[in-house]
Amino acid sequence: MRNTGPVCRLCRRENKKLFLKGTRCNTQKCAFLRKPDVPGKYGKLSMGKKTEYHNQLRCKQAAKRIYGLNEKQFQAYYKEANRLEGNSSDIFQQLLETRLDNAVFRAGFGASRAQARQIVNHGLLQVNGRRATIASMQVKIGDKIEVKKTAVNSPLFEGFAKRKDIAPKWLKTDLAKLSFEVVALPETVECERIDAQTIIEFYSR
Ligand code: SF4
Repeated sequence: MRNTGPVCRLCRRENKKLFLKGTRCNTQKCAFLRKPDVPGKYGKLSMGKKTEYHNQLRCKQAAKRIYGLNEKQFQAYYKEANRLEGNSSDIFQQLLETRLDNAVFRAGFGASRAQARQIVNHGLLQVNGRRATIASMQVKIGDKIEVKKTAVNSPLFEGFAKRKDIAPKWLKTDLAKLSFEVVALPETVECERIDAQTIIEFYSR
């Protein structure tokens, strides 16, 4: 099941900042700064000696939470990465990064992945001129994503033209037009800093 509880608790659970709440994460309001201990029964469990399995599990859980996916969805990316030819950990990361909701977040159209997913789910975007509401859709080179005409006045996109472009090189934004294009596939260094190799090892056990 995908987590729908208080997200800051997940950072405390993983004992690190997962940046799940957008701009709030970079302020003093961040719950992890105020209360960095591991909550509840997990806190006590995590005090013992750490096994390799434990470390791999925590790596996997943290990454899963960063992308806001449930176990079944996350594992499906591992299976697909394994099936495709090439370096499994690179492909695994690329598949996660090229989800539509992640691309929207990376392009700066959502303050967090959760908000980017909401933007997609609420049908505020078009991909190549067609309404797109599936957050897990994989974007590919040449795809053009734009805010629908009926949504351009949404407070979510207010002042976009004056915003700083924070998109990585693989996405070319046109903030004035509320659109962006996929111009390359993300390189590993541009992906979220998860330990993909350890996650692959965890699932290959
Ligand atoms: Fe994590 Fe962000 Fe909450 Fe801080 S504010 S605990 S980084 S989700």
